[in-house]
Amino acid sequence: MTIRLKNVVVISDDIAARLWRDLPHMGRDDDPMRAAARDHAAAVERLCRDAGGSPSDLPARSRTAYTWLRFVSEPDHWRRHLSTLRRLQAALAVAPPPVGAAEIHLIAMSALWRIRERSRQRRPLLLRLHEGFMAADDAFLEEFVATWAVRDMASLNRVGRDFSLSGGFIEIAEQLSALAPEPDTAAMGRVHDLEASFHRVNSEHFNGLLKKPTLRWASVASTRTFGKYRFTEDLLTISPSLDAADVPAWVLDFVVFHELLHKALGLTPKGGRRYAHTPDFRVAERSHPRYAEADAFLKRLTRFHS
Ligand SMILES: [Zn+2]
Repeated sequence: MTIRLKNVVVISDDIAARLWRDLPHMGRDDDPMRAAARDHAAAVERLCRDAGGSPSDLPARSRTAYTWLRFVSEPDHWRRHLSTLRRLQAALAVAPPPVGAAEIHLIAMSALWRIRERSRQRRPLLLRLHEGFMAADDAFLEEFVATWAVRDMASLNRVGRDFSLSGGFIEIAEQLSALAPEPDTAAMGRVHDLEASFHRVNSEHFNGLLKKPTLRWASVASTRTFGKYRFTEDLLTISPSLDAADVPAWVLDFVVFHELLHKALGLTPKGGRRYAHTPDFRVAERSHPRYAEADAFLKRLTRFHS
């Protein structure tokens, strides 16, 4: 079931924008605006209930907007959100973009950030940042804003990606995704159950220590990319090409293991830059007892379909 509600995305975007603009005139915790966010979230819950479901049944973008409203209306998150905006405004004052006004909004979304260039309507240059950047310290935010201001996109991508693998960022992404969990049925395929696979892999290879990410079969049956883990949403997707009777459960488990390894290694940062498939990652992946067998099986599957 999918429940469609108008305006959830518009309302959350609007609150994020107003917070940036009104911040200089706001007290330590501006309760009217926080109450507005909380009331909008409650209205979404009521409308979903009336439709016989829950916010989990909203389409992805509305669900993300709803989780953000719920998240920021919690007093601790609200204070942290406002203080991060203040730190971003301070950073922007030190390194403003060469021309015109600029705004930075903090919000939940599937991307790490989005940039809107200045338009003919003279709207300000806009950087929309994932809520997870709230976990960054002052030095990071200053560097990040300065890099954005001079449009050094290569550096921006590098430092932004690195940061999204940090424990602080992941924790916020996990909290967001936990507010509107995917319905359990999304993890159940025709043959395989991702939920069951997660629990097997977690107990066999991670001592049961990993928190369950959102699990979903991808909409496209790729035979090149079998799995994907997205830090911004704590979301693990698996290609439906593995949801077949001739694909053994241990092969699916190996792909889930690979993706969970991304999640696990992101939680234990190491010095310097980080990329997804580091030498450490490869060592950990090869320590899987059926690595060679699984790798050969997946390569055969790719060859068979290409
Ligand atoms: Zn990978």
